[in-house]
Amino acid sequence: KEVVLFQGVDKVYNTGTVALSQLNLSIKEGEFISFLGPSGCGKSTALRMVAGLGEATRGTVEVFGKNPKAVIETSNDVAFVFQDANLLPWRTVLDNVLLPLELRGSDKKSRKETAISVLEKVGLKDHIKSYPRELSGGMRMRVSIARALAAKPKLLLMDEPFAALDEMTRQTLQMDLLNIWEREKMTVLFVTHNVYEAVYLSSRIAVMSARPGRLSNLIDVDLTYP
Ligand code: ADP
Ligand code: ADP
Repeated sequence: KEVVLFQGVDKVYNTGTVALSQLNLSIKEGEFISFLGPSGCGKSTALRMVAGLGEATRGTVEVFGKNPKAVIETSNDVAFVFQDANLLPWRTVLDNVLLPLELRGSDKKSRKETAISVLEKVGLKDHIKSYPRELSGGMRMRVSIARALAAKPKLLLMDEPFAALDEMTRQTLQMDLLNIWEREKMTVLFVTHNVYEAVYLSSRIAVMSARPGRLSNLIDVDLTYP
């Protein structure tokens, strides 16, 4: 089943910058795909389009066969995690994770159970009453991941989520993310400029060229072995 489709996608910003040129890519259900390439090659531009933020200048972007904006607006099927954990400082860890659930209809008790269970999955059961400022950077990122998982997304978008973390914390979070991916069986689209990170995490890597003006700015590497 196809989750994301880029078909002949060009993106030219109004500044004249060509961020993407003829991007063709089909992402299948259950893949962990990384967009890998140097700063400025268009990784975030491509990811943002999948999140319904910004439209292609030419070509088509589809999520679950539909317009990305429509999917974001009408379902919880897509969640994203940014480099900056983006937590609300005046809300506890639990209340931050409850936020996306409050936008849905389920009752209060089951929302709380869901939030606590995802916080357990990311190893934060003992910190649910803490505030973001009381946590380390790695723990804040865990909260951000828990918040994204709370709504049970089918597609998880991550833009350099571990870039600001120290090496030890990053490695721990990478392992935890792999465990989550294997357990939850969701599709992950992960942006990174770190080769090791991409190779360690991904089932497939879309290597993007620093020079998008070229005919093709993508090399597709399948890392799953028969
Ligand atoms: P990456 O995520 O690989 O670092 P981006 O997608 O952020 O790359 O950017 C690709 C190119 O497009 C860069 O040259 C960047 O400066 C430019 N760019 C990104 N966003 C905008 C914007 N909103 N307006 C104009 N140019 C942009
Ligand atoms: P990333 O870390 O994802 O590569 P950037 O730091 O390149 O992000 O960009 C941060 C924000 O600034 C984005 O919203 C992007 O659209 C915008 N931006 C990036 N490059 C430019 C640019 N050359 N002109 C205008 N806006 C830009």
